Amino acid sequence: MTGQEHDVIVIGSGPGGASCATLLQKRGHRVLLVEKNALLGGKMASIEKDGWAYDLFPHGQVPMRGPAFETIFRELGVADAFQPALAPDDPRDIIKICYRSRGASQYRMVAQGQAMADATPFFRLWDLDPADQAKVVGFMAGLVTMPEEQLDALDDVSMHEYLADKDVPYALYSYLAFHANASLAEPIDLVAASEQIRIMKHIMLQGGGGQYKGGFGALTKVMIREFEKNGGTVLRSTKVDRILVEGGIATGVATRRGTFRAPVVVSSAGLQPTVLRLVGDEHFDRSYVAYVKSLAPGWGFTSIRYFLGKPVMDVAMYVAYSDESWWDMERFNRVKEGKIPDEVILFMCNHSFYDEAAAPPGKQVLVAGTICSPNPEATEIEGLWKRMDEQMVRFFPEIWNATERREYAGPKEISDLTRDAVLPGQGGECVGLGQIVGQCGKKKPSSVSPIPGLFYAGADAGAAGMGTHQSALSGVEVARLAGHYLNKRRKTR
Ligand SMILES: Cc1cc2nc3c(=O)[nH]c(=O)nc-3n(C[C@H](O)[C@H](O)[C@H](O)COP(=O)(O)OP(=O)(O)OC[C@H]3O[C@@H](n4cnc5c(N)ncnc54)[C@H](O)[C@@H]3O)c2cc1C
Repeated sequence: MTGQEHDVIVIGSGPGGASCATLLQKRGHRVLLVEKNALLGGKMASIEKDGWAYDLFPHGQVPMRGPAFETIFRELGVADAFQPALAPDDPRDIIKICYRSRGASQYRMVAQGQAMADATPFFRLWDLDPADQAKVVGFMAGLVTMPEEQLDALDDVSMHEYLADKDVPYALYSYLAFHANASLAEPIDLVAASEQIRIMKHIMLQGGGGQYKGGFGALTKVMIREFEKNGGTVLRSTKVDRILVEGGIATGVATRRGTFRAPVVVSSAGLQPTVLRLVGDEHFDRSYVAYVKSLAPGWGFTSIRYFLGKPVMDVAMYVAYSDESWWDMERFNRVKEGKIPDEVILFMCNHSFYDEAAAPPGKQVLVAGTICSPNPEATEIEGLWKRMDEQMVRFFPEIWNATERREYAGPKEISDLTRDAVLPGQGGECVGLGQIVGQCGKKKPSSVSPIPGLFYAGADAGAAGMGTHQSALSGVEVARLAGHYLNKRRKTR
């Protein structure tokens, strides 16, 4: 296949690529989707194996009411296929939160609805007096009602800096530091206040944390099914080696299966891998290459999956943190020096709670995760896994005997599956360029590349919010931009 049979080539079938491809195809463009893996979905893929069915990585949708996928499904004409496992305000969708304050020997635990609409469990968790309770309520009300212009002004301010002059109890600071690690996979002194507040607003106003019947992979399946039904072509197990640029414009891609040509190429392979490896820096202005190289990778999230012969967790999600276990840059630097802390934050999700088909009858599949470096070569990951296993046994003493098998995944596995490491320390990012201060919100890299006909979709460019939602929103925006580019091109020919 070498002729101009396609209008658009989309690289990658994660939420960014799949959403963009399916919308462009639905709008009448001829799209080729090229994915290097046999499994579609990128980090949003789900696995079905030996009677077990579970998500590889994402654990919770934020926002649950009105995520980008709902809008996409509506345009595809399959609104009914959007099937959250539980309604966002379902009283069964409970998260248990465990917290240990500095110096305390034991964790306290409270149960809370996923939408976090009721603050009183936190008052118990943090043991706050009425004056501190009032401060927390006032502060959180300010976050939830913060207008967009005020949020935009916080793109260059880290959450730590934002909190510096606020009169709030330390327990709230500690929770927000944990939240930055667990929900955004960033340290509190590196995460942009604008992004963290946006995500907290989503959780409190639109619900957060839920899942889908069939896992997140069910979303990929619907988008790809509609894509193929509308005439789109998917090439699996086909890595794009080069994006072709001729006469200064994008003209197609080269793969081991041959060369494919189209006037528009959309890459969701990551901004840095796209510019520095797939296109090559010789095609860009030197200042653009310097800018791309200067972007800091978002952080990683490493996980252990427990395949259990019997259930050990009775709720959907479980999180645990202490004043000592969340990471800021200082704590991370200690870890890099080889000092693995006694405790790490833990985010635990019970796939079986949302979908009884996730495990064979009478069994359960759980995942536990913690923040880590995005560096595929990071040497601390095994030490973190050891701590996670130890803590899991402390929270669920019966887990060790109930475990039939464990699977470990860190930045190396994430990079090998989805994102090439093209710069030192990068590749295992959880949310691509992430929510790092100074490079998100209005400062997020543009989806429009300097090369006409080349666009970037996915977590690295053009959108804001939590991982999968942000990536799909970017796909929606790139579908609009690419459609506009094609229409303009047709008119001028
Ligand atoms: C451990 C973990 C936990 C997470 N938890 C959550 C969560 O709870 N909630 C949430 O919303 N998000 C979560 N995320 C983040 C979310 O999964 C990502 O933000 C999202 O998948 C990024 O989408 P994307 O389309 O930009 O990239 P990806 O999903 O990485 O997709 C990129 C695709 O491009 C393909 N590709 C790359 N290079 C090439 C090439 N040269 N040729 C062909 N194909 C190529 C890859 O194989 C991949 O399929 C989590 C991520 C991780 C790792």
